[in-house]
Amino acid sequence: MPLRLFNTLTQKLEQFVPLQDKSVRMYTCGPTVYDYVHIGNLRTFVIQDVLLRYLLYRGYEVTYVMNITDVDDKIIAGAIGRGVEIEEYTEPYTRAFLKDMETLRITQPDLMPRATQHVPEMLELIQRLSSKGLTYERDGSIYFRIGGFPDYGRLSGIDIAQLSAEGMQDADEYSKEDSRDFVLWKMRKPGEAYWNSELGAGRPGWHLECSTMSMKYLGESFDIHCGGVDLIFPHHENEIAQSEGATGKPFVKYWIHGAHLIVGGEKMSKSRGNFYTLRDLLDQGYDPLAIRYLLASVRYRTQLNFTLDGLQQASRALSRAKNFLQKVQEIPSNREGAEPVQEQIEEAGRDFKKAMDNDLNTAEALGALFTLIRRLNPALESGAVGASHKDEILELFAAADQVFDMFETSEKELQDEKVQELIREREASRKTRDYSRADEIRDELARRGIVLEDTREGTRWKRSG
Ligand code: AMP
Ligand code: ZN
Repeated sequence: MPLRLFNTLTQKLEQFVPLQDKSVRMYTCGPTVYDYVHIGNLRTFVIQDVLLRYLLYRGYEVTYVMNITDVDDKIIAGAIGRGVEIEEYTEPYTRAFLKDMETLRITQPDLMPRATQHVPEMLELIQRLSSKGLTYERDGSIYFRIGGFPDYGRLSGIDIAQLSAEGMQDADEYSKEDSRDFVLWKMRKPGEAYWNSELGAGRPGWHLECSTMSMKYLGESFDIHCGGVDLIFPHHENEIAQSEGATGKPFVKYWIHGAHLIVGGEKMSKSRGNFYTLRDLLDQGYDPLAIRYLLASVRYRTQLNFTLDGLQQASRALSRAKNFLQKVQEIPSNREGAEPVQEQIEEAGRDFKKAMDNDLNTAEALGALFTLIRRLNPALESGAVGASHKDEILELFAAADQVFDMFETSEKELQDEKVQELIREREASRKTRDYSRADEIRDELARRGIVLEDTREGTRWKRSG
């Protein structure tokens, strides 16, 4: 069965076919680093990580770019407020974001370009748009003329004739020709950071940043562009207008948007004050993997209603899975299994893939694994799960972990018992003068971060780093 994804552009579930064979180019709007991100933002990044990993699982090669928006109105205001340069202001938030990604096991994208390092390319894009008559200057700022791009509104389905002048007013933009137009280059204001250019001293508009960086690294047409639903309009609509206005080519084939994480019926956001950062939850003792589980366990197009109770349930579900896997590990190697167990394992594998292929239905995919756990727990007790099943179950969860990375099947950390067992085997090898096997074991342990020290009392070991 092919992978199908819901494309915001066509409002349809579509079969996923990359522009070029098996290689996928994917872009996502990264964080605006004016503050610490909250777990709503992180839900969107976890969802995108699940998409990336599932594409890899399906055998695609993926080039993944996530930008860092390190200049915008809030950043400039924040830097002025603190009396520091933009870079000094954004640096700790960027670092904290990267740390959050690591904690939640969000895959590091291939490239993370920063807006402030792409201003010359942004100016070039404005020049291209100007040569096509799609820009105009007003009071020192440069605007995009929406009237010159007839396709405007295709992504969001918005009827631009209906857009109220008031709704489109941005406090930062003074006198546009048309209230729906948006700014590409903002004229410098006293006291604010700026770049000198042929267009005058100023700074880029946010929408321009993403068009520029995505096309620079992924080409003028690429496969997937993601973000949260709040970015559909105007941000992504404006990106399309800028990119397609300049190149005359289709910008993005699949637009994938994640629904919001909400609290008590409202979007989690900084301005509403109803947010938790990752640090807040870790300080309360929650396991980062339970947080990852919760954020990934609701399908991306469904809103996730965040509660601490929900997080505790996620934590319990994860423990149930880990206890199950532990019991599976302990199945003795001479145990014969019963036939129906085999079928149940295969069924879970099929259901997992079917659910993921169906527009990344993570809830059902995880449901398939938990159904298996529920069915096999009694069989494990009664000895009906055999040694041959053990490998298959572990393989199934390891495959699921390529996408979810939370069941700890990859033996990132060797269990203490396993370390002791290998050390005993090494000692036995040395006694029989099988030094090559002994060295092999030492090297294998070293790769897993275990350092050995041979003393008169025997071999001691510790975990490095
Ligand atoms: P920002 O830093 O505001 O540009 O947001 C970074 C990402 O988080 C964007 O893709 C937003 O759409 C997304 N986002 C913001 N708030 C939420 C929320 N409450 N739930 C899910 N995603 C969100
Ligand atoms: Zn963007």
